[in-house]
Amino acid sequence: MRTQVYDVAELNEEALRNIDVAGKILAEGGLVAFPTETVYGLGANAMNPAAAADIYLAKGRPSDNPLIVHIADISQLEKLASGQMEVALALAEAFWPGPLTMILPKQKCVPDVTTGGLNTVAVRMPQDAAALELIRRAGVPVAAPSANLSGRPSPTAGAHVIQDLFGRVDVILTGNDCRIGIESTILDLTGEKAVVLRPGLLTPEELGTVLGYIPEIDPGILKKPGSEEGQNPAPRAPGMKYKHYAPKAPMEIFSGDPRRVRQAIADKKAAAEAEGKAVGVILFEENAFERAAHDLFARLRDMDDRGVDLILAGAVNDRDSRGFALMNRMLKSAGYRITHV
Ligand code: AMP
Ligand code: MG
Repeated sequence: MRTQVYDVAELNEEALRNIDVAGKILAEGGLVAFPTETVYGLGANAMNPAAAADIYLAKGRPSDNPLIVHIADISQLEKLASGQMEVALALAEAFWPGPLTMILPKQKCVPDVTTGGLNTVAVRMPQDAAALELIRRAGVPVAAPSANLSGRPSPTAGAHVIQDLFGRVDVILTGNDCRIGIESTILDLTGEKAVVLRPGLLTPEELGTVLGYIPEIDPGILKKPGSEEGQNPAPRAPGMKYKHYAPKAPMEIFSGDPRRVRQAIADKKAAAEAEGKAVGVILFEENAFERAAHDLFARLRDMDDRGVDLILAGAVNDRDSRGFALMNRMLKSAGYRITHV
């Protein structure tokens, strides 16, 4: 497939013309990758089953892992979803456009392919100006998972998307690096109480200011998928059962007192290098959660590109909700290999 790459970092006249072209391609059933403030998305017309199915093909993604539907206006929410709309609209007013995805019962018009066969739909309004412009010009809701090949770290720069999807999609819009850098917080609103299905930089505490209570985190998130205790035949966020964000090299996390963590990493690095291995180290500044989220996936991809044999990382403070969201991504990347020192 021929892929057009358009730079939309600055929304000048040329960029707007190209976004218009991309919007028409989306409306007609094509695939367009685009920047958002969380990670890059791989978009298709959410209301067109064949187009949505093409997303799974382009990514190599299992088709029972549902897609998030992106909208550009709060009024689109009621056309896609039903259920606790009062709560949903209050959350939308407070946090959209932004890194919040809400799960609600779906309306009939949303095709099964888009929801991975579920009777619920995931909806988000992204904050990135190019993304909003694209969705507006497409004139339809845009289904979009992260714009990486299935299993690779989510893309946070245009170059990452080109690396994974060039030749597999119609258009790649490249912009500035994603401001946030990890995926949206997913909040399930189908039960009596809201539940966080995927932690993100928008925290349960912040959601609590609108909900009136701090939502619980789905217990499935804390468990290793496929493990004895993680055995859950129907995980609430189907994505939870898949291996995600994995760099090519094995990764190991060390947690505990920061000085001991540094020492353990230095020792293990020296030992691996003595065996002729190339070692990559990820140590974030303490409690600099935003910076760490912004950098994490780019660091993992950089290590893949450099062909390191082993990645050693220091745990971040997961008593902070943003640190918890980061550790969720890091643990997945490391296949849950963590050593307490
Ligand atoms: P991605 O955009 O690749 O990060 O993946 C989207 C995430 O949203 C996946 O983990 C999905 O399982 C989750 N998701 C999408 N739709 C639903 C839904 N209706 N119910 C629960 N989780 C969903
Ligand atoms: Mg993804």
